Amino acid sequence: MPMNAPEHNELREQAELYVLGALPPTERDAFETHIASCAECAAHVKALSPVTDALAHAAPQHDPPPALRARVVRSITGSPVKAAPVPRPVPTRSSAALPWLAAAASLILAAALGTYAANLRARIGALELRLQDATERAAAGERQLADVKRVSVEAQSQIAILVAPDLQRIDLQGQSPAPKASARAFWSRSRGLVFTASNLPTVPPGKTYQLWVLTKQPAPISAGLFKPDPQGRVAAMFETPPDLPQPIGMAVTIEPDGGVPSPTGDKYLVGL
Ligand SMILES: [Zn+2]
Repeated sequence: MPMNAPEHNELREQAELYVLGALPPTERDAFETHIASCAECAAHVKALSPVTDALAHAAPQHDPPPALRARVVRSITGSPVKAAPVPRPVPTRSSAALPWLAAAASLILAAALGTYAANLRARIGALELRLQDATERAAAGERQLADVKRVSVEAQSQIAILVAPDLQRIDLQGQSPAPKASARAFWSRSRGLVFTASNLPTVPPGKTYQLWVLTKQPAPISAGLFKPDPQGRVAAMFETPPDLPQPIGMAVTIEPDGGVPSPTGDKYLVGL
């Protein structure tokens, strides 16, 4: 077992590219560092050397070695080679096996390149997945931070209303559709309205609760819409216009989603 198994597994398939001189310089250096300490990869490179030799000799031979030429000439002419120039033989390959080896080397190179490309694609795919994951985490983190800021701002605003010097309080009692419900409204002309309630029934689909400010004018003024949590609790904040007529009471009705300009549904809470 090689000492550095993950590195070995990653680099072993680059042996073919390495012996063919097809690795980029950085990867070639990494591979050479690896085979210095990995006997298995070193042996693999050594086993590939006939292939590289075949490639190196695949180019046409220029002249046959002089001794060979002399032997051939002597066998044809029966006399020693003269100093006179002998017709140069047509360039030929020195062995019939070499083209075949070269073809085999090309196939190995093609296969190695294919494996290498597939491996690169897989690594890029994995990196893209990790990048996507990191991006999603960052987005989720930003959303959480925004939520925390929003809740913090809301809490500060509610506190600001509750400590307002012009604070007025109105208690609301549950009506026949919600006898156990109760609520309190804290209103400051300068800072707005905080409304808290408990034991409110869950609103049916397509419905919402609507809070009304009752004044000396005949028509109630809508303060806003809210839906209680699953425990029937509400803690909501509403802005009110600075010129809101002096409230003399508040009421909560159940209305179609989106609210209505004047109350149409059953009264759930009333406080005067
Ligand atoms: Zn290795």
